Amino acid sequence: MAGVATGTPLAVILFGSPGSGKGTQAKFIVEWLGIPQISTGDMLREHIRQGDEIGKSIESRMRAGSLVADDLVNKLVYERIRKPDCARGFILDGYPRTPEQAEEMMRLLASVGAEEVVIHLVVDYNVIISRMAGRRVCPQCGTLYNAVSRPPKIEGICDLDGTVLVVREDDREDVVRERLDQYEARTRPLIEFFRARSPRLFEVDASKDRPEVVFQHIQSMLNGLVVEKGMLAQ
Ligand code: ADP
Repeated sequence: MAGVATGTPLAVILFGSPGSGKGTQAKFIVEWLGIPQISTGDMLREHIRQGDEIGKSIESRMRAGSLVADDLVNKLVYERIRKPDCARGFILDGYPRTPEQAEEMMRLLASVGAEEVVIHLVVDYNVIISRMAGRRVCPQCGTLYNAVSRPPKIEGICDLDGTVLVVREDDREDVVRERLDQYEARTRPLIEFFRARSPRLFEVDASKDRPEVVFQHIQSMLNGLVVEKGMLAQ
């Protein structure tokens, strides 16, 4: 594995199709390393919730499961990774998703001196479809649940704050299909980009095991790197 300098931020890129568990793994990594999760999907949804100019401009594309413009997403990430909480590192969840974003991401990471590690969550297509059908989210705290792999203790209720769980608008079946089509056409080819450009690309089988077990695999892959960078000594 290529060495990583101590003191430079670590960019953990979670890569995988919708429903591969990026958001769930991101939350585990946040707890483990104390670095923030940067989810472009969450950032975009927040703009829609606020009803601001950006929100209005992306609402119809997001509802349809289409990707939003590269320039906008690149700008949001550019601004976010400059915040002080990203100084030790950050997790990119749902970015990059197009070749243009991938190229820009390399420039953005270089501009803050970050070094990347890419974790590809590999999941079978049929598993994805059944997972996404059972997906629910807490509208209050954002915790994701799944009827099969991660049921709440009480059906339909968030374990953490008791809020009634909802189906995220873009988890509706027609929208899910569109998101998967977009992934196949525009995002999956980035694996070749990472193979060619990134010295640290790990593949994790995320089809069979429970999220906690997938996380253990991620931990063992990243452990040498985070120890080398002194990220566990807090
Ligand atoms: P998932 O990974 O399960 O598809 P996300 O929350 O990451 O869910 O994304 C939801 C939607 O937000 C996408 O369908 C797309 O419309 C928009 N989006 C999120 N990230 C990006 C991105 N990097 N580029 C373009 N659109 C994005």
